[in-house]
Amino acid sequence: MVQTDPAPAAHAAPQDARPGTAPRDGAGLAVRDVVVRYGGGGGRGGRTDPGTTAVAGVTLDVAPGEVLALLGPSGCGKSSLLRAVAGLEPVAAGSVTWDGRDLAGVPVHRRGFGLMFQEGQLFPHRDVAGNVAYGIAGLPRAERDARVTELLDVVGLAGYGRRAVATLSGGERQRVALARSLAPRPRLLLLDEPLSALDRGLRERLALDLREALRATATTAVFVTHDHDEAFTVADRVAVMDAGRLLQVAPPEDLWRAPTSRRVAEFLGYQAFVPLPDPLPAGLPGAPAAPDRYPDPTDDVPPLLAVGPRGLRVLAPHDGGPAAPDAGTAGAVWDATVVGSVFRRGAVEVTVDVALPGADGPARLVALAAPAGSAVPVPGGTVPAPGERVRVGVDPAGCAVVRR
Ligand code: ADP
Repeated sequence: MVQTDPAPAAHAAPQDARPGTAPRDGAGLAVRDVVVRYGGGGGRGGRTDPGTTAVAGVTLDVAPGEVLALLGPSGCGKSSLLRAVAGLEPVAAGSVTWDGRDLAGVPVHRRGFGLMFQEGQLFPHRDVAGNVAYGIAGLPRAERDARVTELLDVVGLAGYGRRAVATLSGGERQRVALARSLAPRPRLLLLDEPLSALDRGLRERLALDLREALRATATTAVFVTHDHDEAFTVADRVAVMDAGRLLQVAPPEDLWRAPTSRRVAEFLGYQAFVPLPDPLPAGLPGAPAAPDRYPDPTDDVPPLLAVGPRGLRVLAPHDGGPAAPDAGTAGAVWDATVVGSVFRRGAVEVTVDVALPGADGPARLVALAAPAGSAVPVPGGTVPAPGERVRVGVDPAGCAVVRR
């Protein structure tokens, strides 16, 4: 964590009229066509080394009070973008502004931004309160103590002030690091994979607590993660990055319901893509109410049904006779062979090999079979055994339509 001094108040920005960015009054963070490169320049023997372009022209806004997640696979440029916003990495092209003021040439410690990393990097020789107070040493003592107490409460560590950091668990250390980075009221908090070093169960709980702490302190934040569950838990909007570019920026629910491309859907965990007929069958997300044409008539790419991680259901045993298609499956019912089952998160997940329409070989997918007492029938009222033939049906609520 690095805490920086607040920079002087900035003047108002002109109205932003760019397509793809929400109309705004210029308050908060504005990233415009930012490029970040590493290396490059003259190589040996007079050759020019192009270097690595880690961020290839990203434009986005973060409004005051908003929490934005940068989500994407490892190496896609998330950290490089965050570091460029922080001022830790030079911007090769484009601009970063806060409240309309260009930050080019403003050093890290003058931006008024807070930083928090995967390893909280606490000071081992200070106790918990001493760590939290690090960035507010200039405050009068009573005020500083009150702020430390308030923040330890916000991060769920009330009463921990006198503890030595060596006695803390990994999760507690990250809570202290969060309290420390929030203490000086940074105008923007930049978090780089702050939960990635923790184990899964702890990460899920801390993601919820992190969201609450950011809300409770009305902190504007950019949060880097490769984990979509984490991004969805913490952020108001999620920006999906791939190979240095932004693919889509949307609130979690919108992103999930309507990924704009197959690549985004794949990254969110959609497990299969099946060509759809033209016109789309009614009842699918994205299908027109009157199914006579594509919603976007300028798009001549055939739509694909993106089957989500919970978008398939085991319907009934394959007994040779045609069973009535499940209501709401939009008619998509496929034969499948069971590979195995596990009970996870309150449902039986059945791994099946499915011969999808238009595919060369079987696809290995996960279909849900409800546990006992649920309305969804499973063979023999129990979990289907490996090798068993079943039918799986599409659940439109767990699917999306993508067009590129
Ligand atoms: P992410 O945070 O999404 O994992 P990074 O921003 O760390 O991605 O990296 C983006 C690309 O830039 C990768 O190809 C990475 O190897 C490269 N890169 C990152 N940091 C450096 C560096 N200091 N020098 C050279 N290349 C780097």
